[in-house]
Amino acid sequence: MPRILRGLSSKVLPCGCLLGIYETYEGSVIGLVDLKSARCADRTHDGGSIIPASRFNSGADSSSEQNG
Ligand SMILES: [Zn+2]
Repeated sequence: MPRILRGLSSKVLPCGCLLGIYETYEGSVIGLVDLKSARCADRTHDGGSIIPASRFNSGADSSSEQNG
């Protein structure tokens, strides 16, 4: 668990989870799932899970995910 320096922002993921974006003391930016959506089936989105910055700051919003 990285040490959080400060919160930068938050966003709602396509799955409905609330993601908080934080800066760590190391200088890296990470996302933490603050609130998991009841309809989210992603097991990596359990409360407190760390989402790598590359997953949410690319700006590319066109990628579609397959729902299996
Ligand atoms: Zn989710």
